[in-house]
Amino acid sequence: MLIPCPQCGPRDIREFTCKGHETHMKRPAPDAPPTAWDDHLHNRDNPAGPTRELWYHGAGCGAWLVVSRNTVTHAIAGATLAREGAR
Ligand SMILES: [Zn+2]
Repeated sequence: MLIPCPQCGPRDIREFTCKGHETHMKRPAPDAPPTAWDDHLHNRDNPAGPTRELWYHGAGCGAWLVVSRNTVTHAIAGATLAREGAR
């Protein structure tokens, strides 16, 4: 399986580490109630089908990517740099 790194091109999935759903980037406000932080840190959806995940290219350029992947077919529709999505 290949992941299309925007900086390196298509690379083997073994060069990357999956860090979970992209919503992990959207942290609660520092003064949010503990229940909001508990939900952010411990509760995850487990979607069947298209999803967007955070991947780290640790054996490549070191970039954080948002990868669009189907969890049923494992087909990868594309990837963007995570910092571009945060703007
Ligand atoms: Zn890369």
